[in-house]
Amino acid sequence: MKLAIVILGSAALDTARRIQARYPEALVHALASRVQADIAYEEFGAHVRELYATGTPIVALCSAGIVIRALAVSLADKSAEPPVLAVAQDGSAVVPLLGGMSGVNVLAREIGETLDVAPAITTSGELRFGTCLLAPPQGYALADIEHGKRFVSDLLSGESVRIEGHAPWLDHADLPRSEDADRVVRVTPRANAEGLVIHPRCIVAWIEDASSSDVIERLRDALRSFELAPLALAGIVARASTESLETAARVFNVPLRFAHNIPFDTTQALNAHGVALHVSDAPVDIETIGHARGTLTVIGLGPGSAELMTPAAKAALADAQDVLGYETYVRMAGPLRADQRAHMTDNREELQRARHAFELASEGRRVVVVSSGDPGVFAMAAAVLEALESNPEWHAVKLAVVPGVSASLATAARAGAPLGHDFCVLSLSDNLKPWDVIEKRIALAGQSDLVMAFYNPLSKARPWQFDRAIEAVRQHRDANTPVVLGRDIGRPGETLRIITLGELSSELVDMRTMVIVGSSTTRRVGEWVYTPRWYE
Ligand code: SAH
Repeated sequence: MKLAIVILGSAALDTARRIQARYPEALVHALASRVQADIAYEEFGAHVRELYATGTPIVALCSAGIVIRALAVSLADKSAEPPVLAVAQDGSAVVPLLGGMSGVNVLAREIGETLDVAPAITTSGELRFGTCLLAPPQGYALADIEHGKRFVSDLLSGESVRIEGHAPWLDHADLPRSEDADRVVRVTPRANAEGLVIHPRCIVAWIEDASSSDVIERLRDALRSFELAPLALAGIVARASTESLETAARVFNVPLRFAHNIPFDTTQALNAHGVALHVSDAPVDIETIGHARGTLTVIGLGPGSAELMTPAAKAALADAQDVLGYETYVRMAGPLRADQRAHMTDNREELQRARHAFELASEGRRVVVVSSGDPGVFAMAAAVLEALESNPEWHAVKLAVVPGVSASLATAARAGAPLGHDFCVLSLSDNLKPWDVIEKRIALAGQSDLVMAFYNPLSKARPWQFDRAIEAVRQHRDANTPVVLGRDIGRPGETLRIITLGELSSELVDMRTMVIVGSSTTRRVGEWVYTPRWYE
C-alpha cells in the first residue's frame, strides 16, 4: 500500500521506519527544515491536505489534534476519504481517525501489531463484530453504503444475519448468525440482489473492437443483459488502447489490461454487444491477466543540478521501471532504486535506444528515456518520434515528453538576459546535416540580427567547423559584440565567461560549452549581459 507516513521531527523517524518496514511501498514524508527522509514537504497542513485530496492513506506521527485541525477544511468532501491515522511519535498509541469505509481500522490493527500496542478502535459495529461489514477486503465492493449503514445498525439492535455466497473474511467475525435470519449478507456479482450486497470483483470483460466510441455503452449493456453488477467488474482487457477504452476504464474505475488474444475460455464466456464477459467464482487478480499499457516518457534533466530538474521530470523518474540513456545522463538521473533497471548506451545510438525503449514499453513497462537539458532540443524526443514513425504498433504505448531547462536557457540566466529579444538556436554539428546548411543558416541569422545560441560547438572529429562558423558570424557583427560562454553550467566546475566576438576562438570552447553570440543591441551592464526588449 502506498502509505504516506508523515513526520514533523527526527524524534518520530524511528517509529516511522518501523511502520515503513511493514509496508515496503510506503514513503516517509518529513518536514524539510527539520529532518530528512524519503519525501520533503514545506508545510504540514498544506501537505496533509494534498495527500488527502489525492486519496493517499495517511499515517501522521503527531497528535490527533494537529491532524484534525489540518484536515478540518477538507472533511466536507467524503467522496474519496482515504484512511487517516494519528500515531504517537514514540509508537505508544495508534488512533484511527478517518476512512472507516476505506479500511482505517484494518490498518490500525496492522500498525498496532507492528508497534505492539492495542489500536484505539471506536467504531461500534467493528467493536461488536470484530470486523467492519461495510469495508470488505480488496477484491470485493460494497454495493450501497447508505443501505449498509442501516443494515449494521439493525444488527447492533439485535437482528440476526445469515450469509449467502463465499465471504471467507467473515468466517472468524463475531456475527449474530442464524440459519433463518431475515437479514442476509449476499456475496454475488448479480445486480439487483437483496440484502447487504457485496460484489466480488470476479468479472473480466474482453472488448473485441475497441475502436468505436461506444465502449462504455456496450459494456454497460452487456452487463445489464446478464444482470451483472458493474461493481463486480475486475478489469477490462483489449488488444490495444483507444480513447474510448481509457474513458470506459475510468468510468467503471477498473484497470485496463492488454493481451493479443481473449484471455479466457471462450466457450464459457457470456457474449453481448461485442463484449465477452467471463465470470469467476472468486475475485480475479487482474494484474495476472495480459499486461498494463506501457508508458514511454522522454524527460529532460536540465543542465545538471538537481534544483534545475522539473518536479514533473523527477516524478517520471520516481515512477520508472526502466531508465534508458547515454551513460552520463543515466548517472545524472540517479541514484536509481534497486527495483529500477538502468540501460546505458553510447551517445550515438539514439535511434536504437528509442526502439529499445518502445519495445520495453510494449511489454507493459514504465519506461523513461533521459536527455540532458530539454529532450526536444537536439536530443532524444525527436529520435523517439522517428522510431514511432517506423512502427505504427508502437502507437499503443502511452507516450509523453516532459520538458527541461535547455543549456541555452540555463547559460543565458547565469549571464543575465542575452536571449531577452529574438534569438535562434543552432547546432554546429554536421554529423546529421551538411555543413553548407549550417553556414547558410548562420548567414541568414546574422542578416536578421538574431542572437545566436550555438549547441555542439566543437568536437575532436570536427576540428575546423567552429572557426568557419565564427567567420560567418563576423560578416554580420561587430568585433565588440558580447559573447557568452557557459561551460558545464549547473554541473561541478561550472564556468561562465563573457568575452567579445573579436576574442572568440576555437581554443575557448569544447563540446561541453554553450556559445551565445549577441545581436547588434546586446549590451553589458556591470557583470551582466542583456538584449533589450526594444529595438532602435
Ligand atoms: N538537449 C540538450 C542539448 C543536447 S546537445 C539541451 O537542451 O541542453 C549537447 C550540447 O548542449 C553540448 O555540446 C553543449 O553545447 C550544450 N550543453 C549541454 N549541457 C550543457 C551544460 N550543462 N553547460 C553548457 N552547455 C551544455
